[in-house]
Amino acid sequence: MRWKEQLLKLTPYQPGKSIEQVKKQYQLEKIVKLASNENPFGCSEMVKSALRFHTESLAIYPNGNAANLREELAKFLQVDEEEIIFGNGSDNLIQMISRALLHPNASTVMSTNTFSQYKHNAILEGAIIKEVPDKNGEHDLDSMLAAIDEKTNVIWVCSPNNPTGTYIPESKLVAFLDQVPEHILVVLDEAYYEYVIADDYYDSIKLTRKYRNLIVLRTFSKIYGLAALRVGYGVAQKEIIKALEPAREPFNVNTVAQIAAAAAIADQKFVEECKKKNRQGLNQFYQFCKQNDLRYFPSQTNFILIDFKVESEKVFQFLLERGFIVRSGNALGFPTAVRITVGSKEQNEGVIKALEEFLAEKKSEVHTILGE
Ligand SMILES: *Cc1c(COP(=O)(O)O)cnc(C)c1O
Repeated sequence: MRWKEQLLKLTPYQPGKSIEQVKKQYQLEKIVKLASNENPFGCSEMVKSALRFHTESLAIYPNGNAANLREELAKFLQVDEEEIIFGNGSDNLIQMISRALLHPNASTVMSTNTFSQYKHNAILEGAIIKEVPDKNGEHDLDSMLAAIDEKTNVIWVCSPNNPTGTYIPESKLVAFLDQVPEHILVVLDEAYYEYVIADDYYDSIKLTRKYRNLIVLRTFSKIYGLAALRVGYGVAQKEIIKALEPAREPFNVNTVAQIAAAAAIADQKFVEECKKKNRQGLNQFYQFCKQNDLRYFPSQTNFILIDFKVESEKVFQFLLERGFIVRSGNALGFPTAVRITVGSKEQNEGVIKALEEFLAEKKSEVHTILGE
């Protein structure tokens, strides 16, 4: 087979370990998965009842335009229906954008230590990748601007950023957008938008009105708790959406997903409640970090990256054996940190207790080495 050369450089996406896998491997009864930034509170009851009453035949193809969902979302965001594009998860939108704009004679700019799929898709398209070192977990926007060359077609901006949880303040983002040439598409990935509480955060949808080269990506996978169904969306001016549409698979968002997402939008009370509980959960982790003198990134998301100053894998393995699946920072560019999804109050207490045991063991090891 004459595979594309770039395929040989890639490995498939490594998802967090599954609950079933860990249960079996370690003979544990209860597993808490805090690895993939899923919503610990599930999804809205309104979604569940909408799906229960869904009686249409599964033999019929989905509405290729996601018409009802589109109408509901446009109303909710106060944008035109033609300013929205749907994806089978926002991963699918990243793929479409890459497919539409990247090729071996195009370059693309992104930060290090950000969401892995920008680079993955850029490699797949054979594009020239200009990866700009992050500055203490944040995008270095000035250096990203400086990295633009005559071949640049796409710039990826993740805010709040995965895996650090940091965000770009409005003034900085606007100054950046002002300087990006208009023929370059800026992709603003806002997968964690609904969790943000920072005062100096921007209204990204409003920014799409001003910047003709901006697309905002959001998802129903995180706060809406619908990761299993795969629905994401992009918002941009009509010209961008129109140009991208031919790169979209005809029926990329399935019927069940469309019904669920539309019902999810209608329950903003659920979203508010999750946001509030997430904040309380983050505070549990902040307190733990302060008490134990651990460095962490203040987070605008539903996860926290904590530096344990030992190999990530050690913390990861210790937690795994006690039934907590987290994400090792090793593959995320932070080899001594772990990324933990904020769970329910009890789940957070559990993982924090296990982490305290880890720290106590580590301390006693040091004492032994020192002969105390
Ligand atoms: C989770 C995540 C996505 C992917 O979301 P899906 O809609 O489930 O594909 C995209 N970007 C970032 C930064 C994420 O963390």
